Amino acid sequence: MMNTPLTMTQMIRRAEKYFPKKQVISRTAKGIQRFTYKEIGERTRRLADALQKLGVERGDKVGTLAWTHHRHLEAYFAIPCSGAVLHTINIRLSPQHITYIINHAEDQVLLIDSDILPLIERCAEHLKTVKAFVIMTDEDELPETTLAPVYHYEKLLADANPSYEYPDDIDENTPAGMCYTSATTGNPKGVVYSHRGIYLHSMALGMADSAAVSEKDIALPVVPMFHVNAWGLPFASVWFGTTLVLPGPYFTPKLIAELIEQEKVTITAGVPTIWLGLLKELDEGNYDMSSLRAILCGGSAAPRGMIQAFEQKHKIPFMHAYGMTETSPLVVISTFKSYQEQLTDEEKLDIKAKQGILVPGLEMKVIGKDGEVAWDGKEMGELTIRGPWIASEYYKDERTEEGFRDGWLYTGDVVTVDEEGFVKIVDRTKDLIKSGGEWISSVDLENALMAHEAVFEAAVVAVPHEQWQERPVACVVLKDSYIGKTTKEELREFLAPQFAKWWLPDEILFLKEIPKTSVGKFLKRALRDSVHEELRQ
Ligand code: ADP
Repeated sequence: MMNTPLTMTQMIRRAEKYFPKKQVISRTAKGIQRFTYKEIGERTRRLADALQKLGVERGDKVGTLAWTHHRHLEAYFAIPCSGAVLHTINIRLSPQHITYIINHAEDQVLLIDSDILPLIERCAEHLKTVKAFVIMTDEDELPETTLAPVYHYEKLLADANPSYEYPDDIDENTPAGMCYTSATTGNPKGVVYSHRGIYLHSMALGMADSAAVSEKDIALPVVPMFHVNAWGLPFASVWFGTTLVLPGPYFTPKLIAELIEQEKVTITAGVPTIWLGLLKELDEGNYDMSSLRAILCGGSAAPRGMIQAFEQKHKIPFMHAYGMTETSPLVVISTFKSYQEQLTDEEKLDIKAKQGILVPGLEMKVIGKDGEVAWDGKEMGELTIRGPWIASEYYKDERTEEGFRDGWLYTGDVVTVDEEGFVKIVDRTKDLIKSGGEWISSVDLENALMAHEAVFEAAVVAVPHEQWQERPVACVVLKDSYIGKTTKEELREFLAPQFAKWWLPDEILFLKEIPKTSVGKFLKRALRDSVHEELRQ
C-alpha cells in the first residue's frame, strides 16, 4: 500500500475544494456572522502567511486564548498546516496555571480574544517566550492594552497572502496541537497531538457506529474550543464539509436552545452540566428541537434521569461518550448493537447510562486486583488504553511514569465492563469512597439522587471515618420550587431501595451550588474540604 502522510493539510484543502459553499456560522460580540468554507479557507491561508511573517517557524508553539468562533477555527488549521503547533489554552484556569502553561509550552505567539486581554495582562510580566500578541477583535481599532507588541488579527489577515501554500512535506508524526489537562492537583500536564492522531481521531468521529459526523450534519460544539479541541469536532467537521455553528463567548441554556432552533442543529456536544441547564430551559420554554439527531455528552457521567428526560420527554436522542485530554478524547461511545434495538425503553436507558463501547482503532484492558477483570458488569478495575490517537507521554513532565506504563495509558478511571463490552465509569480512582475495605461509587449515588424530581444537582464525597475509613456524604442542590419542602429523610427513603444499606450516605447536606472545575465538572476536592469543615462544626 502507499504510505501517504496523514496530515491536517488534507482536511482544510478538502473543505476548500469540495465544500466551498458550505457554511461556518459564528457568533461573536457583533452577533451572528456567516462564512463559506471558501472564505474560511482563504482566511486560514492568510493567517498561516501572517504568522510566518511574525517569525513563527516550524515546530513553534502558537497559543490561543479564545472562545468558540470562526477566527479560532482558522487558527485550528493555519497553525498546524503551516508546520507550527496549535496550543489551545483553557482560559478558565487561574492566572498562575495559565502562566505556567504558556512558559512550559514555550509559546512564541498568542492569539487572544479582546475580552480575555485583562487576564493575560495579569500574567504578562511572567511570560518568558512570547514574542507577539495578536488580538482577535471585531472592532477596527485595537483595544487599549499593556501588552506589547500587539497586532490586529484582521489587519494582519488583510496584509497577508490569500494564496499561501501549505508545506507538502509535513511528517504525519510531527506535533500539530497540544492541550494541558485542567489539573485538580499540581500543575497542568501537557499532551501533544500529532497530525496522524488528529487525522485518525477525526475519522473515528465520522464512523457510522460512533458519532457519525458527516456532511449532512449541522454541528454545534458547546464544549469550548479551549477544552480538548472541542472534542475534535471542528477538525472532523471541516474535513467532512459539515456546517459548523460556533456559539461564541456566551452559551447560556437559552442561547443554546435558540441556536439549535434557528440553525437547525443536528448534533451538539458538551458536558452534563450544560445539558442539565438546557433541560431546565426546555421545561420552561417552548423550543423546536426536532432537528437534533444527537446530544453528545461526556466529560463526566451523564445521570440516567437526565438521559431519560431528553429521550422520553423531549424526544431528543442522547449519546453518552467517555474520553480524556490524553485520548484526543474519544474512547468509548454508547450506540446500540442491532439486537439491542428491540429492548424495552428501560433496558435501553440502562445501556445509555453506561459510557459505551470502545471505538474501532483502540484497544483496552481493565486491570483489577488480580489482573484483567471479568466482563460481568460487576468486577471493577482501572481502564487502560492504547491506540493511534492516545498520547504516549506528558510533555516534558516526570508524571509520564505514573500515567504511561508498558505502552498503555493508565486512565485513573475505575470501570466495569458488561457481557456486551459496554464500559461503565464507576469513579475516578481518587473519588471512589473506600468504606470498610469495599468501594462505593460516588457517581452511582449522584446519578440516583439526580433522578429524584426535586434534585437539580448532587455530588457525593468521602469523609474520613474512624471505624470504616471513609463514608459517603451527599451534597444536594434542590430545584428552586422544592427548596424548604424536600427533606433529607425523603431523599434517603428514595435511595434506600436502590442500594445496599452500607452504600447510603451518612449525611445529606443541602447546598446553593456545587463548586465546579473550569470545564463544569464537580470540583470534588473543594467540596470534600468544605464538607469536612461543615461536619466538624
Ligand atoms: P480533567 O482531568 O481536567 O477533568 P479531562 O477533560 O481530560 O480533564 O477529563 C477526563 C476525565 O473525565 C476522565 O478521566 C474521566 O474521569 C472523566 N470523564 C470523561 N467522560 C466521562 C463520562 N462520560 N463519564 C464519567 N466520567 C467521564
